[in-house]
Amino acid sequence: MAKFVIFAVDPRSETVMRLHYDNMDSSLTNLQGHSLVQMMDPSIQTILPVAPVTSKDTPLGKSSPRILKISLGLSCNYACEYCSQRFVARNDETNPEDVADFMDSLDNWVLSPPEAIEFWGGEPLVYIKTMRPLAEALRKKYPQARFSVITNGSLLNADLNQWLDDLGFAVSVSHDGPGQHVRGPDPLADPPTRNAILDLYQRLAPQGRFSFNAMLNRSNQSRSAIQAFFTELTGDPKVMIGEGGFVDAYDVGGEALSLRSGEFHSFRRQSFKDIRQGKSDRIASVRDRMMSFVNSIRFNRPASSLGQKCGMDKSDSIAVDLKGNVLTCQNVSALSTAPNGESHRIGNVRDLTSVALRTSTHWSKREGCPKCPVLHICKGACMFLEGPLWEKSCDNAYSDALPIFTAGIEFLTGLIPVHIEGEFRTDRKDIFGLSDQPVTPQAIKAKPFPIPVVSV
Ligand code: SF4
Ligand code: SF4
Repeated sequence: MAKFVIFAVDPRSETVMRLHYDNMDSSLTNLQGHSLVQMMDPSIQTILPVAPVTSKDTPLGKSSPRILKISLGLSCNYACEYCSQRFVARNDETNPEDVADFMDSLDNWVLSPPEAIEFWGGEPLVYIKTMRPLAEALRKKYPQARFSVITNGSLLNADLNQWLDDLGFAVSVSHDGPGQHVRGPDPLADPPTRNAILDLYQRLAPQGRFSFNAMLNRSNQSRSAIQAFFTELTGDPKVMIGEGGFVDAYDVGGEALSLRSGEFHSFRRQSFKDIRQGKSDRIASVRDRMMSFVNSIRFNRPASSLGQKCGMDKSDSIAVDLKGNVLTCQNVSALSTAPNGESHRIGNVRDLTSVALRTSTHWSKREGCPKCPVLHICKGACMFLEGPLWEKSCDNAYSDALPIFTAGIEFLTGLIPVHIEGEFRTDRKDIFGLSDQPVTPQAIKAKPFPIPVVSV
């Protein structure tokens, strides 16, 4: 059980209040133990199951998929700087001949129609000769399933757009907006490709089937700049921006684009300011995580119900390739090995009962996560990372989640957290770098408000 004392400023009276937050039962109270928020009627919340606790020694199995992720292969026509797949060992490429065997196998392991089917690359449209017959056969077999694909957008054209529309795809184009040049090539710089992307936007966005997916990194820190970029590009103030979180450090590229220690506070101030001024309200990682965190407190949602952020620790979320290999997730291959030495090939659909996720570690088995105040927002970063890359990803994730935590508590109470006390890393307690050095609760109390950088 981890309890925290939050020092929060009342911006009207400039006084400092102390709140108690418990990340295990999601209670937010005053020092007398009285709840500070309007609680929701628990009867309107579905009972949340206890999340599975997967680890090398207690591996998760897989069942008939509700979410089916199909990895077509890891080839890509771009080589982006922080791509999670950049250094992943490649399988033999799949090809159109694999489709028939894959389709024939389905009835043996997909026992009821999946709710969603995702088509993954590399760049999935590099595999269009395989993807077309596969998606058409799957659409025939599962007419109600939601189809989605994430693409870099460079291979879109009028014919492909029509096909994606006809098959009912939701399409996300990965693009970092003003920071795209840091990531890699810019498909919007090529006029025919730009037109194709915007044509697809016009077709699908009105039905909520299109988003631009952007990621933050140390050279692309401003969500308000990202949101402004896509609003201007589309002329649509309601443009949907998917993802929008800070990159994980999967490799040296991601590590180089991670925040450095002197940058944590300025990033958090920028992020909080963007949230508070409504300049990142179209960005999924802000909107969704903020509402989820607020509701976790309103419903006293227990931490025991929290799975990993990507959901690949659910038994009914399965990533497979067309040879039937079951994978840790869509970002790895059957030939790759996790940092803990286990193969990312965790079984085969021909023997689903033998599948065992040994590559990954649930947040509850990590040292820091159960003692972390932003646990309900972060959900433990990438479940298979370990060592220095995991630590770097954890640092990014903490600074990414903290402004959402702060904004959520302000939304619920009108008070702005500036400091957190508890049994966790001392260097993480000062939220915005506004306190005197050394950081102490007394120094916070002595520090006058307002905080200039967050005034609206
Ligand atoms: S910020 Fe780090 S310690 Fe906190 S929940 Fe995320 S991964 Fe765990
Ligand atoms: S395990 Fe989850 S977070 Fe990690 S690379 Fe795979 S999908 Fe992403």
